[in-house]
Amino acid sequence: MASEFDLIARHFTRPAPSARLGVGDDAALIAPQAGFELAVSADMLVAGTHFLPDADPALLGHKTLAVNLSDLAAMGARPRWALLSLALPEADEAWLASFSQGFLALAAEHGVDLIGGDTTRGPLNLSVTIMGEVEAGQALRRDAAQVGDEVWVSGELGGAALGLQYLLGERPLAPAEAAACLQRLHRPSPRVALGRSLIGLAHACIDISDGLVADLGHILERSHVGAEIRLADMPLAAAVASRLSEPRALRAALAGGDDYELCFTAPAVRADAIRAAAAEVGVPVARVGRITAEAGLQLFDAEGRAMPLHASGFDHFAGR
Ligand code: ADP
Ligand code: MG
Repeated sequence: MASEFDLIARHFTRPAPSARLGVGDDAALIAPQAGFELAVSADMLVAGTHFLPDADPALLGHKTLAVNLSDLAAMGARPRWALLSLALPEADEAWLASFSQGFLALAAEHGVDLIGGDTTRGPLNLSVTIMGEVEAGQALRRDAAQVGDEVWVSGELGGAALGLQYLLGERPLAPAEAAACLQRLHRPSPRVALGRSLIGLAHACIDISDGLVADLGHILERSHVGAEIRLADMPLAAAVASRLSEPRALRAALAGGDDYELCFTAPAVRADAIRAAAAEVGVPVARVGRITAEAGLQLFDAEGRAMPLHASGFDHFAGR
C-alpha cells in the first residue's frame, strides 16, 4: 500500500506559485501583498453529517473547497491559499485521485494554491483552511449593516435543500428539476467574483449556508438591527417557486442549507452600482427587503401581510 508520503506527493503536491514555499516542509511560507489583510477561515465536512458516505469523490472535492471559497466570498476577499486536512478510513487510490481532481480543478479556477495540510487515518473527514487577501479595512463584515440599508440576495435559493429532499426520497421532482437541484447541492458555485465586486458598495455580507432566515439573522444580531423581507421578491430556484405554496418548499427557500449564495446589505443609493457590478460578473442579484431599527426579522407575504416568524412553524427552521 502507498505510504502517506506517496499519497500526498501524488494527489496533493502541485506547484504553488503564489507561495514562497508550498507542500513538503514543516510549514508553508506566504506573504500577503502590502495594503491587504489576510482573511482566514476553516470549514469541515464530515461523512454522515454534511454528505452521504457514498458521495461521488470528485463532487466532494469540489464541495469541500467550494464551501470555504464561499466564506471568503462573503468577506469580499480574494482567495489565494488553502490547507487540506483529511481523515481517511483507508488509502483508496481511486477515491483520492477523484477527490483531488475535483478539489484542484476548482482551486485552479479560482487561482488558489494548495500549500499544505495533514493526512491521517480515521472516519472520513474533510477539512480546509483557506486564506485570502482583502484590502485593509474593507472586508464585508457581519456587523456592518446599517438602518435603511437594502437587503440583497444573489442567485436563487432553496434548490440545494430541495435536491437533498429528492435524494432522501422525500420529494419527487421532474428530471430537469432534479438535475438542477442536485447540481446546486453537489456543485455549488461560490460567489467569489461577486464578493470582490461588492467591496466599497455593500456594508454587511454573509454567505447563505444554513438558510436565509438563520444567516441574515447573524447579520442582524451582530449589527444590532432588524429586517423586513418581502417573500414575493425572493429569488427562488424554479422547482421551489413552482411549489412555494407547500410548507416544505417555503422551508427550503428560507431555511434550506447549502445554497452558498450571498446575502448583503447596502445603502439604497448604491442599487444601480450594485446591479452593474453584479451584471459585470454575471450573477443575478435581487433586492428582497430592508434593514430596520426594530430588532428581529419580519416576513411579508405577496399581499403585504406580515408573517411572524413564530407562525406556521417558522421557529422550527433554526434547528434544521
Ligand atoms: P508533518 O509531520 O510535519 O505534519 P506531514 O507528513 O503531515 O508533515 O506532511 C508533509 C507535508 O505534506 C507538509 O508540507 C504538509 O503540509 C503536506 N500535506 C500533508 N497532507 C496534505 C494534504 N492532504 N494536502 C496537502 N498537503 C498535505
Ligand atoms: Mg502532519
